[in-house]
Amino acid sequence: MKRYSAFAIAREALRDHTGWGRAWGNPEPRRRYDAIIVGAGGHGLATAYYLGRNHGIRNVAILEKGWLGGGNTGRNTTIIRSNYLQDPSAAIYEKARSLYETLSQELNYNIMYSPRGVMMLAQTEHEVRGYRRTAQANALQGVDTEFIGPERVKALCPIIRLEGPRYPVLGALWQPRAGTARHDAVAWGYARACSEMGMHVIQKCEVTGIRREGGRVAGVDTTRGPIDCDKLGIVVAGHSGRLAEMAGFRLPIESVALQALVSEPIKPAMDVVVMANTVHGYLSQSDKGEMVIGGGADGFNNYTQRGSFHHVEETVRALVETFPMLSRLKMLRWWGGIVDMTGDRSPIISKTPLEGCFINCGWGTGGFKAIPGSGWAMAETMAKGEPGPLAAAFSLDRFREGRFIDESVAAGVAH
Ligand SMILES: Cc1cc2nc3c(=O)[nH]c(=O)nc-3n(C[C@H](O)[C@H](O)[C@H](O)COP(=O)(O)OP(=O)(O)OC[C@H]3O[C@@H](n4cnc5c(N)ncnc54)[C@H](O)[C@@H]3O)c2cc1C
Repeated sequence: MKRYSAFAIAREALRDHTGWGRAWGNPEPRRRYDAIIVGAGGHGLATAYYLGRNHGIRNVAILEKGWLGGGNTGRNTTIIRSNYLQDPSAAIYEKARSLYETLSQELNYNIMYSPRGVMMLAQTEHEVRGYRRTAQANALQGVDTEFIGPERVKALCPIIRLEGPRYPVLGALWQPRAGTARHDAVAWGYARACSEMGMHVIQKCEVTGIRREGGRVAGVDTTRGPIDCDKLGIVVAGHSGRLAEMAGFRLPIESVALQALVSEPIKPAMDVVVMANTVHGYLSQSDKGEMVIGGGADGFNNYTQRGSFHHVEETVRALVETFPMLSRLKMLRWWGGIVDMTGDRSPIISKTPLEGCFINCGWGTGGFKAIPGSGWAMAETMAKGEPGPLAAAFSLDRFREGRFIDESVAAGVAH
């Protein structure tokens, strides 16, 4: 595959851009692979990439029922941060954030990582105490955050109204090296790198069954025929429960729709990401100028990928309190994705009761930020058959043994 570079752009400009090749292949499935990953979202593709890069396992297929990145990876609001409370969470999210910093160079694909800074507003005394505590925990974990007062908040984001009608802004948890990245590009960059290593990214190939032999995984049935494998990674976010059922076990997961919307594009109005968890909404401005607004999750289980009017109304009404200028904007479009929620709001990266079958899920409303770290940890678990230090705490056993990793404050809201 050709390297993307300034030289390549200049060369192509001279020949009417006729020399660009496909970014990734479109292969027919083989009869057998060493490893199969189900789901070509960011987590599945990153898992495959690090299987090849870190562990030399390259006879790999990534099977996707739709198009790559068409699940939550292409539907999220792209916030990347690592200011979680518990040590295992801070470790994996910070690993991911630090990998994001150089991912464009590593993949030779511009993922448009923008470390513009993320602030989580404290709008009640309870939140002030909570975020001060998180800042202290982050200091011990080596994650660069601080609690800042209202004047600093206003200086960083002038469009905020500090004295809201219900909830004044009392301060914020500020992570200066957090930010955003272009979500599709993350999937495309990993897919291209996997393809370059000789892996097969196979789209429009739905897994319809998981074949077992003597307590071990033997392969999968797909809409493009049966495929055998030694190892299987299930990385399908909101569809995890369905795939687990095919493999013969149950997951402590609920699938719900989470939604977001964008406004018409406007001139630059804010250059940080703001999350307002008390009124429930979060906001950033895209490179095109649209205000990107994150909404809430449905209060009931469902598999829809749509938005709903009551959430739009709730979210916009809440955000207008803190950002009055939003009331003048037209909203352009909104959408939903199916997120997979665990009870402790922490992910699962684990072996499963079926030997050779591994699962990565439960990232809920906040897994985009984790993609590189999650792929790294899942690849290690699949390659070695046992979780490494990043994944160990996130095993399925924790629900049986009561070792919950409670992130309901850091991750219970949508982001
Ligand atoms: C509206 C919204 C806003 C969000 N905002 C943020 C945010 O700002 N920051 C953040 O960190 N996170 C955010 N998230 C969460 C984040 O998007 C997800 O946690 C993350 O993208 C999950 O990635 P994934 O690769 O696991 O799943 P997905 O991208 O959903 O990929 C799973 C893939 O599996 C495929 N699949 C399913 N079943 C099968 C099958 N049987 N056979 C083959 N393929 C199958 C699906 O088609 C899909 O492409 C948001 C989510 C939503 C919906």
